Parts: sequence; C-alpha cells; structure tokens
Amino acid sequence: MALTSKETFDLARQVLTGNYVRAPLSIVRGQGSYVWDAEGKRYLDLLPGLGVNGLGHCPPRVVEALRQQAGELLHIHNNYLIESQARLAQKLIQHATGMGEAKAFFCNSGTEASECAIKMARLWGKQNGGKWKFITLENGFHGRTYGALSATGQTNLHKGCEPLLPGFVHVPINDAKALEQAFQDKEVAAFIVEPVQGEGGIFSCTPEYLQTASALCDWHGALLLYDEVQAGMGRTGDLYAYQTLGAPAPDVLWLAKALGGGFPIGAVLARADACEFMVPGTHGSTFGGNPLACAAGLAVLETIEQEGLLAQVRETGVHLGKGLDALKQRFPKLVLATRRVGLMAAIDLSVPGKAYLEKCRDKGLLINCTHDTVLRLLPAMNVTCAQLDEGLSIITEVLKEQA
Ligand code: PLP
Repeated sequence: MALTSKETFDLARQVLTGNYVRAPLSIVRGQGSYVWDAEGKRYLDLLPGLGVNGLGHCPPRVVEALRQQAGELLHIHNNYLIESQARLAQKLIQHATGMGEAKAFFCNSGTEASECAIKMARLWGKQNGGKWKFITLENGFHGRTYGALSATGQTNLHKGCEPLLPGFVHVPINDAKALEQAFQDKEVAAFIVEPVQGEGGIFSCTPEYLQTASALCDWHGALLLYDEVQAGMGRTGDLYAYQTLGAPAPDVLWLAKALGGGFPIGAVLARADACEFMVPGTHGSTFGGNPLACAAGLAVLETIEQEGLLAQVRETGVHLGKGLDALKQRFPKLVLATRRVGLMAAIDLSVPGKAYLEKCRDKGLLINCTHDTVLRLLPAMNVTCAQLDEGLSIITEVLKEQA
C-alpha cells in the first residue's frame, strides 16, 4: 500500500542523508502546472522541478517519446552511434546563433555540464599559452562537485569542503572594472558566467557587461563560457538567455534542467575551436546522451516549436511582471524589490521567507526561497496568465496575513 506523506517523511528522515530541507509533502502525480500529494491535495506548482519541468509536469510529447523509446532501446554506450543524440545536438546548435560550427557533448546534469566546460577550457588553455585559471562571478552557482563548486561564487556553499580547486577568482556581477582587473592575470583560460543568475536570486548581467566580457576574453586570449543550466531552454523567452539579453554569443554554453522536460540530461555546446582538444580519452560519461534522454530532449524542442512557447513566455512574462509590480506597490515595507527575466522571477523580502513559503504551501502554492529572503518563481513555459494570477493572489493573501 502507498505511504502517506507523514509515513514517507518519517521513513526518509530515517534512511536518507540529511542534506536537503524536505517539506513534509509526498508528491505522487503531476500534470502541467499542478501536482497532487499522497493525500490527494492539489497544488499549483510555480517552481516545477526547480526549473526541470520547463513544460510543466508530464508533458504529453515527452511522455510519449519516452514510452516509445523505452520499448525499443533503453541504453547503449557512446562507443556506438545514437541517432537521436546527433539529431538533438544538431538542433541545439542550429539555435545557438553566433556560435558557428559548434559541437555538443551530452551528460546527465547541470553540475556535470559545468565540469565538462571547465575541463574543456583547461584542455584548450593548456594548448594556448599554458592558461588554466578561471574568473567567475560572486553569487554565481554552477553545481556541487569540486570543479563546479570551485566556480560557484557563494562561499557559504564552500564551507567544510575546502580545499577547493585552485585557480578560481570571483568578481562582482556587472562590474567591468573588476573584470578587467582580474584579467591582469595572464594565466586566465576562461570567464564563466550565468547570463541570468538563478540560485543567486535572479540577477541579470547587462548586455554591455557581457559585451565587455567578450571583448576582454578576445583581447586576453581567453574563452567566454555561459552557464545556462537554469536560464536556458526557453525560460527567458528565447531558447538561450544570451539571446534575450542581446548579449554576444559565447565560446561554450551549457544546459541541463529543462532540456529533458523532467528526464535527466545535460549538454555542453562549444565552438569547434574551443572543443578541439576534446579528443578520445579526455572526457566521457557512461549515461550521457543515452537514447531515453535524447528522445526526451527532442520532444521538448518539438513541443517548444509546435506550441509557440517562446512567444508565450514573452507574453506571460510581462503579465507576471505586472503582478510583481503590484505586490511591491501594495507591500512597500515587506517587498524590497522584485526582479524578472522572462519567466524567472524573484521577490526580495525584508524578512526571512521561510514562514511565507510554508503558508503558501498550506494554501496550495509551491514556490521556493533562496538566500533566506528571496522568494523565487520559475513557472513552466506553458503556464497560463490565469494560473499566474492564482499564484499571485495566494502570495498576496500570505503577505497580507504576515504583514
Ligand atoms: N548551473 C546552474 C546555473 C544551476 O542553476 C544549477 C542548479 O541549480 C547547476 C549548474 C547544477 O545543476 P544540477 O543540480 O543539475 O547538477
């Protein structure tokens, strides 16, 4: 017999490691922007899968593609050809305007994609003047393994894990002077940046800053690397966030989260010269780019195209922005600021957000809180204006009660 939320909570506490803050909620079913818990209660999910369910829960094309693929071939390793992998790479590259004759590497998560990009840049740097260091942003997030964690500019996440990889410096976002200064080190191989910081609380790079970064990389002979694990795959209203920002194309860009519509997959796209030294033996992934993951990725792209979701994100994003403005006007003491790019949104509170989060959950709305005081929303690309209004009205109610 299936367990209740409480029973699963107790079992999880007993047998799972304690590295997550787990809500006492066992989610058993999802459809679009709604999920249901083990007790049958429905929730509006405005942060589906922490950005993974970019098409909402169980998008029909993805579910069907996985069903079909599962009946044909579950897994085959990368020493054979996988047609869907090559076709997915081709499509992702076709969309990557300005990256020229790029190539793709597939893995299973955002962290793995960050690791691959870091290795790729080191392989490139060693052959281009012996460069091996990285500049990244303060408050940036790139994952939890050692390379990705060293790139991550949130020192609280480093605590207890030191020593990290040498050669990483972190500079403040949108500070061209600090970046220029960091480039005085002649051993810098690459600048790693999220065009829109997600975990950091939805902070966007300005196009001018990325323009300067691109020029500095060119001038100093370094690579420009965009981590679009959270902001990519349509969430900003273009397939890639750098396109929405009007920023220059990078040398290397990586994706994960929404790429598989709920199935694990990560991808690194690189200009041909940036990945020139990825020769046999330098890198690999047993599961990376497997038939199931690539079938899901192709179905995600097909859904985005066929359902005109990029245009829809731009429209619903504007609607969400108006709702956020209204919140700020109505609760000027509680809501310090709101930020939004496409359907990535943050509400900065003047107080810790945990209690607000829990109240929202009690009232049937799922969002999250990052950096203690920032409520974050990453709705599915096919969320409707009515669903956004439903969520905003619950947030309003909760802010009113707590104000
Ligand atoms: N890079 C960015 C920008 C992310 O937002 C995340 C996860 O939130 C990661 C990397 C790590 O991805 P994953 O959790 O799939 O390993």
